[in-house]
Amino acid sequence: MTPRLRLQPEALGSGLTSQRVRDRLVERLREGGIGDERVLSAIRTVPRHLFVDEALATRAYEDTALPIGHGQTISQPWVVARMTEALLDALPPVAPGAAPKVLEVGTGSGYQAAILAALGVEVYTVERIGELLRVARKRFRSLGLNVRSKHDDGHLGWAEHAPFDGIIVTAAAAALAAPLTAQLREGGVLIAPVGGANAQSLLRLRKHDEARIEQETLAPVMFVPMLAGTID
Ligand code: SAH
Repeated sequence: MTPRLRLQPEALGSGLTSQRVRDRLVERLREGGIGDERVLSAIRTVPRHLFVDEALATRAYEDTALPIGHGQTISQPWVVARMTEALLDALPPVAPGAAPKVLEVGTGSGYQAAILAALGVEVYTVERIGELLRVARKRFRSLGLNVRSKHDDGHLGWAEHAPFDGIIVTAAAAALAAPLTAQLREGGVLIAPVGGANAQSLLRLRKHDEARIEQETLAPVMFVPMLAGTID
């Protein structure tokens, strides 16, 4: 994988945010069953400590979710890795030279979007909390990542850019919003946590055509809830 991000020397971190610590996280993920070298390489490359508050930077390479404000969290690295792997594995073929188009619902810190962009995916991401999105956009810009983002309710997807080859939802709902499956191309794949506050499953859906959507359960997970509407 060619990393598609621009790292200033200071972005590489030091001590508990250094490359050595990122490498150790990658080894832990490998032991945890993540086998896709492209995904491991992206996690090795993208400095997760730049996606959390400075006060939490030294904890950024623990395999744990961390608070990002507004009651939200940056997902646990293993979960990001598993979702990315599950998506990449199943993306339908795209035209030669073209990048797969993926919609993310729930930008949060921007970390999941950055991992996808580093993998050469054309990323569209939607976030309902304006303040989180503003901070995430600054991160994309300073890392030179080309991520398109929108402040909106992700239940609606992003119709102007549909259809997508893949959709990844990073907040949990009791059921999938209809516009999301509608905006998936035929052959496209959708990864999403579905369930309530106490029990959620990570699902992978394959849309064969409008009439046939196949579903498999990948893992038990715990995400913050998908909420309606937007806030500044
Ligand atoms: N992918 C993020 C995970 C953030 S947690 C990361 O890598 O950091 C989930 C995010 O989903 C939160 O930021 C939350 O505000 C957002 N969210 C919840 N409901 C949403 C909705 N309806 N539309 C868009 N974003 C939503």
